[in-house]
Amino acid sequence: MKAEDIKITIPERANFIIKTLEGAGYEAYVVGGCVRDSILGREPQDWDITTSAEPMQVKALFRRTVDTGLQHGTVTVMQGDEGFEVTTYRVDGIYEDGRHPKDVTFTRELKEDLLRRDFTINAMAYNDTVGLVDMYEGLEDIERKVIRCVGDPHERFTEDALRMLRAVRFSAQLGYKIDPETEKAIRDLSGNLEKISAERIHTELVKLLVSDNPGEIRKAYETGMTKIFLPEFDVAMETEQQHLHHCYSVGEHIIHSIENVRPDPKLRLAMLLHDIGKPDSLDVDEDGITHFHGHPMVSSRMAKTILRRLKMDNDTIDTVAILVKYHDYGNGVPATDKKVRKAMNKIGKDLFPMFLEVKEADILAQSEYMREEKLENIREWDRIYKEILEKNQCVSLKELKINGKDLIELGVKPGPAMGEILNTLLEEVLDDPDKNDPEYLKTRAKALM
Ligand code: ATP
Ligand code: MG
Repeated sequence: MKAEDIKITIPERANFIIKTLEGAGYEAYVVGGCVRDSILGREPQDWDITTSAEPMQVKALFRRTVDTGLQHGTVTVMQGDEGFEVTTYRVDGIYEDGRHPKDVTFTRELKEDLLRRDFTINAMAYNDTVGLVDMYEGLEDIERKVIRCVGDPHERFTEDALRMLRAVRFSAQLGYKIDPETEKAIRDLSGNLEKISAERIHTELVKLLVSDNPGEIRKAYETGMTKIFLPEFDVAMETEQQHLHHCYSVGEHIIHSIENVRPDPKLRLAMLLHDIGKPDSLDVDEDGITHFHGHPMVSSRMAKTILRRLKMDNDTIDTVAILVKYHDYGNGVPATDKKVRKAMNKIGKDLFPMFLEVKEADILAQSEYMREEKLENIREWDRIYKEILEKNQCVSLKELKINGKDLIELGVKPGPAMGEILNTLLEEVLDDPDKNDPEYLKTRAKALM
């Protein structure tokens, strides 16, 4: 591939912005991720524009703009319902904190703006007039499939430590190798990740996990990065399992389970954390066999702590904690209607399919011992689950054909006793769905009062 052969179709709205800036005598290009993704034939997430015009000059040219980060040179230009980030060519000042530059200065040189970017494949710009601007061999690195820093990797990672995790994330998304010198710098400087906020780490970690190669988290471990933001994972990597059902260390089992689940953030996080409490629950019997009694509960508690520490949203934290807590539920017992209704009651109807996905991924990351039986059991759980949905059977208090109001009419006082009666009735209905009948339940309630 040669730079002059690269042709990128810039969306009309982004191109209008570029043409407007050029018409006023400035330079403007699409830059970064969108150029990389276009060359790769991947759908770009957003089209960022870089320009020689300063923020006030950009604002003067467009009707609707948002001051996104004026001091960093970024103005969002609105076109219809879409916003485009237009950033002035800039040189970052000195980085004193390993996170962000003390100040930024604007420059007239595109070359200098490209130099401040993290990786060669992210340091290309394009417009229709000039074509591809590739000053740091980004195109060559795309062909060689490598993630390589622009300039000196030690300098780049010392400036902003997050770039180290981004290197692994891009390597996982694109299936590229990290250039040896770049990787060496990560090993040397991984401790600096400590300076990076939980929010920025969380964004990169989730992108890594939902990528095509989530197993690259192994690289984050090997280079010393997980030790900083997920030390629990390092302990898991260093905990062996001696058991018929297992063939990997806890950490390697976790990695294989992540690879065997759909790329949904909650599912991938659930696999990452499902066995994270195993090292804390480890017990070795006289035959040298490892046991981890009670580990799902420990893992669930740890998952909450870890996800909170990483500043994940509450919905994600709650869902992952439930999936982790129940990941072993019903193991080794044949699926029966009763068992499945009880599981649906505990886990929730909506989360139930994800619960089965977690179980399947877990099995696929274990030894092959009894694998077919275990998978067959999951299929049976799934079949019964669907049947219960179809029959609309009651699996929660909400669906019970008697409620608090009915009990009050029968003379029960609101309070704990009322809750107890309802729960007893629900248990009976979970055992036998035919009992979900208002008249029958009233009679039973009276007997229980
Ligand atoms: P994605 O497809 O995930 O959005 P991206 O390459 O667009 O990937 P962004 O985080 O959106 O990544 O950043 C846009 C561009 O800004 C990058 O391509 C890169 O040129 C530059 N960039 C972003 N973060 C950094 C950083 N921490 N250090 C240096 N350059 C960065
Ligand atoms: Mg982007």
